[in-house]
Amino acid sequence: MPERKGVQSHVLLKRLRDTLAEQAQGQARLDKITHLIADSMEAEVCSIYLRRDERTLELCATEGLNPEAVHQTRMRVGQGLVGKIADKAHPFATANAPDAPGFRYMPETGEEIYSSFVGVPIQRVGEVLGVLVVQNKVAREYTEDEIYALEVVAMVIAEMTELGAFTAEGQQAMAMPHQRTFFAQGQSAQEGVAEGHVLLHEPHIVIANPVADDPETEKQRLTDAITELRAEIDRMLSADQLAAGGEHREVLEAYKMFANDRGWRERMEQSIASGLAAEVAVERDQSNTRTRMERVQDPYLRERLHDLDDLSNRLLRILTGRNGNGSTDIPEDAILVARNIGPAELLDYGKKLKGVVLEEGSVASHAAIVARALAIPLVVQAARITREALNNDYILVDGDEGVAHLRPEPNVATAFHEKVAMREQAAEEYGTLRDLPATSTDGINIRLEMNAGLMADLPSLKGSGAEGVGLYRTELQFLLRNTVPRRSDLSERYARVMDAAGELPVCFRTLDIGSDKVLPYMKKFDEPNPAMGWRAIRLGLDRPGVMRLQFQSLIRAAKGRPLKIMFPMIAQFDEFREARDRFYDQLEKEKARRHLTPSHIQIGAMLETPSLAFAPDQFFDMADFISIGGNDLKQFFFAADRENEKVRRRYDTLNVSYLTFIEQIAARCDRFNTPVSFCGEDAGRPVEALAFAAMGLRILSMRPASIGPVKRLIRAVSLSETKQVIDDARATGQQSVRPALESWLKQIDAPYR
Ligand code: PEP
Ligand code: MG
Repeated sequence: MPERKGVQSHVLLKRLRDTLAEQAQGQARLDKITHLIADSMEAEVCSIYLRRDERTLELCATEGLNPEAVHQTRMRVGQGLVGKIADKAHPFATANAPDAPGFRYMPETGEEIYSSFVGVPIQRVGEVLGVLVVQNKVAREYTEDEIYALEVVAMVIAEMTELGAFTAEGQQAMAMPHQRTFFAQGQSAQEGVAEGHVLLHEPHIVIANPVADDPETEKQRLTDAITELRAEIDRMLSADQLAAGGEHREVLEAYKMFANDRGWRERMEQSIASGLAAEVAVERDQSNTRTRMERVQDPYLRERLHDLDDLSNRLLRILTGRNGNGSTDIPEDAILVARNIGPAELLDYGKKLKGVVLEEGSVASHAAIVARALAIPLVVQAARITREALNNDYILVDGDEGVAHLRPEPNVATAFHEKVAMREQAAEEYGTLRDLPATSTDGINIRLEMNAGLMADLPSLKGSGAEGVGLYRTELQFLLRNTVPRRSDLSERYARVMDAAGELPVCFRTLDIGSDKVLPYMKKFDEPNPAMGWRAIRLGLDRPGVMRLQFQSLIRAAKGRPLKIMFPMIAQFDEFREARDRFYDQLEKEKARRHLTPSHIQIGAMLETPSLAFAPDQFFDMADFISIGGNDLKQFFFAADRENEKVRRRYDTLNVSYLTFIEQIAARCDRFNTPVSFCGEDAGRPVEALAFAAMGLRILSMRPASIGPVKRLIRAVSLSETKQVIDDARATGQQSVRPALESWLKQIDAPYR
């Protein structure tokens, strides 16, 4: 890093601080700043362009250009020299602006007579809020020191912009930041709607005094904060039970490395020496990190830059005295807004949240699994939401559409309220169906069960009217912890699940890890195609210890009650036979240890690969039941990754090939009298559920919230007529039976949406 004198920035900042201390309204303040910078830099022009919206920059103040152009001249981000600086988030200087590539002449500003140009982004934690420009008539090169001084001043302007220092009553063009309505189009990770107020997971830090009064004091504050940060990390490392290693520890070690990094500290100290307060110095470095983060492709490097970003956040919280966890003041109608969140943290907030909006995250993430268990609407991939939202902002979350409306217009709020009212009305209607069977008008009964995986799910068992737990995903408890659970903890937990279910059956699926479900303490294997890799039963058979642990815990939890278990991702008969044998071996051992054994045992297989549908007859004889894991089965049937947005929705579940396949599985199981259910997400979608029932499935397992809508539709139609509609559509060579089925349901006025 080149040695910079920093004198000019220091002087400039001191003058700036005096100016900011004067009483002045928004526009007058901006005008004074441009005047001051032009004067200090001996330049004819100084202009400030601020972002009006995502794509537009507006000339908001100028010294030297035509004053009439203020609030009139606008440009797109990426357009002209100013737009390019905003786009690239990088300074640009030239002695001959009109010849610079991208130069765009704006006659209304009268800038044609200025030859030299230097512009720096006005940015705050990686977000470009505007551009600061200085121009001279004579052709001159701007020194590195001058550019640096401008960058430092731009940081202060950014902080002031964030504080709303340049806004004033009635000045529309300078709308206060965080007051405009903001709409985020993300993706739906859990349906449902919620209205409430923002709770930021990482509180937004606003710095009231960006210019340092005394650099020595600021340097000391930084030193103290870094010392505290290091102590904090050491505490976390020693509290972490995982002395032997693991991902979680790796992250902490990376934190520690950065916290001790001299380069990081020196960069911040240099910013302080140039006149910035310690907080702004941290933010300046964080901004650069985020800019780098956006360009880096390598996943490992990106992770490390993320670590550095997190560390800056921690340091900022220490510096601003907000290091406590703000969980005490969770508003009653809290909607959590975060860049990303881990499953354990989300579970800590638990039912206190009405909704969650994440800037990153994915539909298949662990946080999404938890949100589903808690039935909290979740929107992921909501770009910019953490930058736009402030604590307590009014927000509407539409988990059905995957959108969030921050500070919405009244008409948007009205439309939203109508949607909420409709959903409430429907929920009331489902309540009245709770104790009624899902029997079609032609008398066929479909058993509806629920999927679960967390203790938080179990209260829904009675409330939803489910007839049992058709799929209990045991891996969730493993995913939420930093260490392998102990056998006693596991068996106690399984016992609590069985207690909660009472007479109703619970089908425990043994660990399904690997692929998208990576345990925090398991070494990650770089597999070219993890969904088809070393996962589920394959991993279970190769690592017998974990499977044994689960078998023992389940047998002991049952304490003489019936026990129902199934194995995930069985692709061939031998895998099932082997896993089943191991269970019975364990059962014998438990008997020998004088543990009470289950009163009745059922062992089933999940049919998640097409191959199992064609297994030998003996498999169908041996399996006590089969459960179709449609999420996986569909991805393998169509060779379309269930997590890849580009292909995820490409193939319809009601595609005739897939439906016919389901029909054949149902028929084959029927021939062997092997009960078969469907427990993938599609079972919870009313039209899909109806089609499966028409194809011969009699047991469907779904999220608790789906039971009402599915039951309502099944009770309203005849399955033989449904089958007829499907058969007709198949006979005419259609790709999917959906259009025919939906138009028929519409015609008979069935509640299918
Ligand atoms: C499935 O694949 O349909 C299934 C239920 O298992 P999971 O979604 O947990 O992979
Ligand atoms: Mg699966």
